[in-house]
Amino acid sequence: MPDHPAWRPETIAQHLGEEEYILGAVVPPLFQNSTFVFENWDQFTSATEYRPGPPYHYSRMTNPTCEVAEVKIAALEGTECCKLFVSGMSAITTAIMASTQAGSHVVCVESCYGPTRQFIESYLTKYGVTSTFVIGEDPQEVFDACRPETSLIFLESPSSIIFRLQDLEAIAAFARSRGIATAIDNTYSSPLYQNPASFGIDYVLHTGSKYLGGHSDLIAGALCCSLERMQSIMKNEMPVLGHALPPFQAWLILRTLRTLHIKIKAVEKAANQVATYLAQHPKIEKVFHVGADAFPQKELRDKQMRGTTGLLTFMPRFQERDAVRRMTEATRLFRLGVSWGGHESLIVPLEYKASDWAEQRWLVRLYCGLEHPDDLIADLEQAFSMA
Ligand SMILES: *Cc1c(COP(=O)(O)O)cnc(C)c1O
Repeated sequence: MPDHPAWRPETIAQHLGEEEYILGAVVPPLFQNSTFVFENWDQFTSATEYRPGPPYHYSRMTNPTCEVAEVKIAALEGTECCKLFVSGMSAITTAIMASTQAGSHVVCVESCYGPTRQFIESYLTKYGVTSTFVIGEDPQEVFDACRPETSLIFLESPSSIIFRLQDLEAIAAFARSRGIATAIDNTYSSPLYQNPASFGIDYVLHTGSKYLGGHSDLIAGALCCSLERMQSIMKNEMPVLGHALPPFQAWLILRTLRTLHIKIKAVEKAANQVATYLAQHPKIEKVFHVGADAFPQKELRDKQMRGTTGLLTFMPRFQERDAVRRMTEATRLFRLGVSWGGHESLIVPLEYKASDWAEQRWLVRLYCGLEHPDDLIADLEQAFSMA
């Protein structure tokens, strides 16, 4: 781990991990090679336990280009290590597999990303892992769901679609006292707006496909944790699962990281403006927006998060499928599609039911991109007239 002074995130993004200018190149070169060769037998056979930095052997395990991005993301998250993966799901499933074995029990937030829930609830049952899903807003509910065989608490705060928060500090302290690992999907916040490790969370996960990639042109994932936990992953999961991120994608992430602090403020501002517009709209029943003054978990938000990002969801008063369809097909700037974190605004209609809701409802999730917020609002206004 290279030592770095107490740089702020903006400076980390520009310089950390790039102290060496290879042939004077101001941008780190792309090490596209699969293997690394050695001068002699002793160097070649001196395999040591994983640590960031040289020597590199084979790009399925470590690669210098990936490592520049990994060093920056680890520093931004305040963890000793970071490893990049071929997708957010591969980072998520790796943290879960590293924290479970046959007979383990997992406690997970019910409003987490769908495939995360699928992996824990369905896939892992064939290895004898059981699970309990919780709303997660009350830490006591999380504690009560734990059993003697619970080995992992999986959080997503704010969670997907309806943006529920969990009390990271309280849950981490409880888990530590019981020897239970904690993991969080931190994709919503990016490493710039929330650092769960500072509250004691063990594994911090990101989808690189969203803010870290930032241009809707790559799929990637990141896993941040202590050196000790990473050494275990590098020994047990990394060699056999073969899901390290290829260097070109890491090189693209590097360029995104440099300006992410500017972009995240822009999409935050756009989402705030759009949310304010929606909150007063007669066709809207409810807005789910972490940045709102009326956000129900405002106090916890202000404790844990430094900002909110470009996502929000609304519950329209029009609940007929065809009306939702007409509205979401009518937007021109908000394009109909999943994902977020890129330059372009997106709109996703979905039927949703939280366990504490009486019935399933139609929701519409928006990602506000880099278009002018007034144009985004005008786009929604004309689309509402179609509903
Ligand atoms: C998109 C997403 C994922 C999955 O990431 P991939 O890179 O598509 O595998 C996981 N969690 C959240 C919150 C997401 O939005």
